[in-house]
Amino acid sequence: MSLVVTGALAVRTGPGGPGEAGPEPGGDVVVDAAGRVVAVGPDAARDVGPDVGRGGAAGPDGARLDATGCVVTPGLVNAHHHLLQTAFRTLPGTRGVPMRDWLPAMAAAYERAHVDAELVGAAARAGLAEALLCGVTTVADHHLTWPAHVDVAGSVDLARAAAAAADEVGARLVLVRGTAGDDAERAALSADAIAAALVGASPGGVRPDGRVQVAVGPAGVHSDGETTFRLLGEVAARRGLRRRTQANEQVDVAAALERYGRRPLDLLADWGWLAPDVAVAHLCDVTDDEIARVAASGASATHAPGCDVPMGWGVAPVARLLAAGVRVGLGTSGGGSNDAGHLLADARLAMQVSALAGRQLAAREVLDAATAGSADGLGRPELGRLSPGSAADLCVWDVSGVPDAGVADPVAGLLWASPGRRPRHVVVGGRVVVRDGRLVTADEREVARVLTRRVERVAA
Ligand SMILES: [Zn+2]
Repeated sequence: MSLVVTGALAVRTGPGGPGEAGPEPGGDVVVDAAGRVVAVGPDAARDVGPDVGRGGAAGPDGARLDATGCVVTPGLVNAHHHLLQTAFRTLPGTRGVPMRDWLPAMAAAYERAHVDAELVGAAARAGLAEALLCGVTTVADHHLTWPAHVDVAGSVDLARAAAAAADEVGARLVLVRGTAGDDAERAALSADAIAAALVGASPGGVRPDGRVQVAVGPAGVHSDGETTFRLLGEVAARRGLRRRTQANEQVDVAAALERYGRRPLDLLADWGWLAPDVAVAHLCDVTDDEIARVAASGASATHAPGCDVPMGWGVAPVARLLAAGVRVGLGTSGGGSNDAGHLLADARLAMQVSALAGRQLAAREVLDAATAGSADGLGRPELGRLSPGSAADLCVWDVSGVPDAGVADPVAGLLWASPGRRPRHVVVGGRVVVRDGRLVTADEREVARVLTRRVERVAA
């Protein structure tokens, strides 16, 4: 046994788990040396023996986490981020502007910054360190920026830089080889080369240790044509990769109507991109017929209100998507629109704004979306839940302080109370990566300094 978490007030194991509708039973989580959950519940740690985590079988790392006064949840899964944009937060010209102005402002910033492996690595390191400190153990990085000066080999270097950052800080990364108007053939060659380099022939495009995954994803029908979707789809089919795209924010619908006289989901369906291995982010402006169509296709959705709301795209009808049987995950989107990678804060926002889009979502529905829902959309059912056999990615949230005083339901309170809360401890694959609110895998200040210096060098 490698880790035990003991004495939690409540353990949220995920949909279908004990106390699914609350209250969840408290107790322990026991993790084996392979980083998998072996037992959860009251007294689960009793049979493990007192030596575990005290320099005994678990090694000297003190791998026994006291969760007294705490709620334990699965690690959060951010199903939609653009990590490079971490370097461009609060960028002048990108706030309070329509997307037709936002896109060129971001493109100009990328151009000025001369996107290379150094910048990609520094932004990913900062974004992933931030993720862990906020309880996000897996990040899907929809990387859309592959400048013209970067050839196929260079694109592999960019991907390697992001993967190295994930390995360094101890987060799980899903690198989505995206496109945004890229040359289709080159993008397909690049996606294939990135998959070969990062995950080889591993099933599902997941590295054998489960910490790096490769997927493909055109930014949307507003930026990429049928050839790009088809060629990236072929790479995905050949290598068993998941597919992701974005659809039905305002510009996407307007561009599709203008260019093709059709709505984006019609095009995606025609192009073979409404299928069980596809996840579609945003989906703000969708009709009931379109929701039924997504549900029938088996595709999943990623809700990103921390981007959609400030961009003025509206609120995706999550309750109607769920009612139709669509799997819904949660993402932050990137620093160009949402300046924080704090998925729990966006879960709170998702819950708050849901009342404007049909029905107030329950805290547990949103929490499940931000964990199991996101994981399922990535084809990773072992993530986002804490049942025996699941990956031991978990957060220990201290709910004993004043921000939670008087809270009747501590699991619902994770979202309703204490906005911006951070976990006390975070574990990825059985390894403690955040302890007592501090990153243990890297020097947080140094991670920030490296990115700041790189950005300032460009500005100078
Ligand atoms: Zn997005």
